[in-house]
Amino acid sequence: MAFKLSNESSPFPEIMGRVCPQDVLCEGDCTLNHRHGAITIGSIEKYITEKGFENGLTIDFPKQKLGKSVAVIGSGPAGLSLATYLLRAGIDVTIYERASRAGGLLTYGIPGFKLDKNVIERRTNLLKKGGLNLKTNIEVGKDISFEDLRKNNDAVFIGIGSTKPKKQIFLTKIANEFIWLWNF
Ligand SMILES: Cc1cc2nc3c(=O)[nH]c(=O)nc-3n(C[C@H](O)[C@H](O)[C@H](O)COP(=O)(O)OP(=O)(O)OC[C@H]3O[C@@H](n4cnc5c(N)ncnc54)[C@H](O)[C@@H]3O)c2cc1C
Repeated sequence: MAFKLSNESSPFPEIMGRVCPQDVLCEGDCTLNHRHGAITIGSIEKYITEKGFENGLTIDFPKQKLGKSVAVIGSGPAGLSLATYLLRAGIDVTIYERASRAGGLLTYGIPGFKLDKNVIERRTNLLKKGGLNLKTNIEVGKDISFEDLRKNNDAVFIGIGSTKPKKQIFLTKIANEFIWLWNF
């Protein structure tokens, strides 16, 4: 029951339990901190889900389909979350991911000692079992056009993250201005 509930209210509780900064967010701001100390929700989420998996529990997706399809660009937490909720609603989902593995920054940003990559793969495999069509090594805009996705689906979700940090863009702008002034 706890496994089911935990998975109902979060698309991947075992991942959030590991990487979400609860100490400064919900646990840090909990009113119980004034007298008793907050419930350690992150550790609890992780424990419940891991115990469930250990005991062979899994997540079921409906077999009945609505006859609608959504193309999702990017398989980071945004894309995977949306895919979870759409599959639960009986909507067909295809994720297009330019990298060779799913997960976005979960896979390529957060270090393995904080989030073991097998944990992401296990969750992705669960979604695939639930009907997710995951197409890796496909960059939208290069290998397939955005227009094609729009034409062939009822909706398109863009979950491509932000590869370039703001600071870098800002510094590049300043450097370009400087080079321009220098040449002038
Ligand atoms: C080093 C590092 C550590 C972090 N640690 C934490 C942490 O401990 N806790 C935490 O909560 N957050 C952490 N974050 C932040 C968190 O990882 C991001 O907020 C989150 O991944 C954003 O999710 P997203 O799905 O929007 O984008 P992303 O995770 O960036 O996923 C976007 C995906 O879209 C794909 N994509 C992009 N363009 C295309 C295209 N044209 N066609 C197909 N695919 C495309 C990319 O390959 C990528 O897989 C960390 C980030 C970094 C960089």
